[in-house]
Amino acid sequence: MRVLVTGGAGYIGSHTLVELLTEGHEAFVFDNLSNGHEEALSRVKQLANKDFGFVKGDIRDGEALDKAFLEFKPEAVIHFAGLKAVGESVEQPLAYYENNVAGSVELLKAMGAHDCKKIVFSSSATVYGTPQYLPLDEDHPVSPVNPYGQTKLMVENILKDWAQDGRSATALRYFNPVGAHVSGRIGEDPHDIPNNLMPYIAQVAIGKREALQIFGDDYETRDGTGERDYIHVTDLANAHIAALGTMNEAAGFSVYNVGTGQGTTVKELLAAYGETVGQELPFETVQRRSGDVASSVASPKKANEALNWSATLSVHDATSSSWNWQAQNPDGYAQ
Ligand code: NAD
Ligand code: UDP
Repeated sequence: MRVLVTGGAGYIGSHTLVELLTEGHEAFVFDNLSNGHEEALSRVKQLANKDFGFVKGDIRDGEALDKAFLEFKPEAVIHFAGLKAVGESVEQPLAYYENNVAGSVELLKAMGAHDCKKIVFSSSATVYGTPQYLPLDEDHPVSPVNPYGQTKLMVENILKDWAQDGRSATALRYFNPVGAHVSGRIGEDPHDIPNNLMPYIAQVAIGKREALQIFGDDYETRDGTGERDYIHVTDLANAHIAALGTMNEAAGFSVYNVGTGQGTTVKELLAAYGETVGQELPFETVQRRSGDVASSVASPKKANEALNWSATLSVHDATSSSWNWQAQNPDGYAQ
């Protein structure tokens, strides 16, 4: 299939491109590089041993989208482009509504103008808000607690309305993506101090940061630290390809959790990373981060059954691939 990938130069987009190209699909990347890396695209080409087009453009720019659609004539879109920092979304909500919501509307308009009828969208488990029960299934009520989560839910709702008359949309609600490509050639390269747990631990392991701050150890979990469902980025990438395979004229709108069904606490993840690196990693316990929940774990049953997809990689695969990437590229993509 000819697939336009918005945000393809980012963390999850670049890993998905490798799997997409390896599976024999053709790709074209549309990314404004606000948080992506052109170097990641060169490395994807080497890993997949296949070329693809790239345009530096913004999804809020209808003309740029039109040009890309005219040039590439995609049959489907995988839509990763957007802003993703929860804290920043509280400080700059309009930037989030503009990039994530208005940008997605522009993208759908371009798809309409060019008769492209399939889209896979990066949603997030954050749409569930505070869990009322665990594991979270897709019927759990949605109630995002920050502007970032609101943008994801809004786009899901827009897609629900859009996906009729032969158009189909699949929203994948990612749990916590982690790890890197097995080669260590591509991985997560945060532009700033990492907000997320695994890239922070990786920087502690390489000596860039002194110690992990554990945000609270008085939660109602096995060891008091927050529990999450960490999904390996390569498994996540493959969920997009599985989703594309199920989309047809009658498909309409679907939503799936993408997780493993297994919870891991902060202390467990830190210990697993330490085992990978061969030394215990330093930490200090600080107060809870506002907005964090004790536990978030997926029921991936719907995706397992309907997409015939399931996670195959372990937390250990995630820590070892993350370390492989971090050790080979201590400064990320910077040369
Ligand atoms: P990322 O920042 O690495 O990738 C996003 C890419 O989109 C970047 O390359 C960036 O340059 C590009 N981009 C941003 N705004 C754009 C715009 N207006 N026009 C064109 N390109 C634009 O993030 P990621 O971790 O790869 O996440 C991909 C998607 O998955 C995002 O939509 C994110 O919200 C969603 N998601 C991520 C996580 C996570 O923990 N990483 C969890 C759930 C959902
Ligand atoms: N966390 C932490 N220290 C950090 C970053 C995260 O203790 O520097 C904890 C956080 O409180 C949560 C878990 O790690 O329990 C996962 O956080 P992350 O930001 O990676 O993902 P989230 O689930 O919040 O999207």
